[in-house]
Amino acid sequence: MTNLHELTERIISCEACPRLREWCEEVAEVKKAKYKDETYWGRPVPGFGDPNARLIILGLAPGAHGANRTGRVFTGDESGKWLYGALHEFGFATEAAATHRDDSLQLVDAYINNIVRCAPPQNKPTTGEIKACRPFFTEELRLLADKRVVLALGKIAFDNYKKFLQEEGHDVKGLTFAHGACYTFDDSLPALVASYHPSQQNTYTGKLTQAMWYEIFQRVRELLDER
Ligand code: SF4
Repeated sequence: MTNLHELTERIISCEACPRLREWCEEVAEVKKAKYKDETYWGRPVPGFGDPNARLIILGLAPGAHGANRTGRVFTGDESGKWLYGALHEFGFATEAAATHRDDSLQLVDAYINNIVRCAPPQNKPTTGEIKACRPFFTEELRLLADKRVVLALGKIAFDNYKKFLQEEGHDVKGLTFAHGACYTFDDSLPALVASYHPSQQNTYTGKLTQAMWYEIFQRVRELLDER
């Protein structure tokens, strides 16, 4: 039977999307000037966290000079500063700063799973690429058997999770993405919380403020305490 370790190995060696694989390798070779002395990861980026996590966080895709450089989801870029900062503040991470896949940060009762595992140009995967990567997303979600709360970052993550629920035979009528939306079900399904993605596009423009962001994690913590 597949386990998370085997799944991780398959993700890292995947070559299914030529456009994304070429882009990731090119970025890893050309590099950003400030990272010129670093060796970029340049491979698909697997999920990260506690295999027995009750909180599952769904992101979109690795950042070209973030996870595609460091080899760990949300690590090494501005989005990651927001995410790991909040995870630490609310007791889900041992440290507030994530710098590299080999740093000592551990997630506690939390796991991060992206919809697409390779950094896309302009942070925009195509529909076909999302579809190609979907089996990894689905398999990982199924393996995370202790999940009690799912936090979807952005509409694409939300809609993909909705599709997952539908495929698993659940009624998804009425589930609509909005920042702060929260859906609870009977005990067989984890609660679903939606948030704007902590991308620079949202955080630099004030669409997502620190207060709004922390309110999401406060709600997540309360839901976990209740369930
Ligand atoms: S995006 Fe997913 S399916 Fe496509 S190459 Fe990367 S890991 Fe494979």
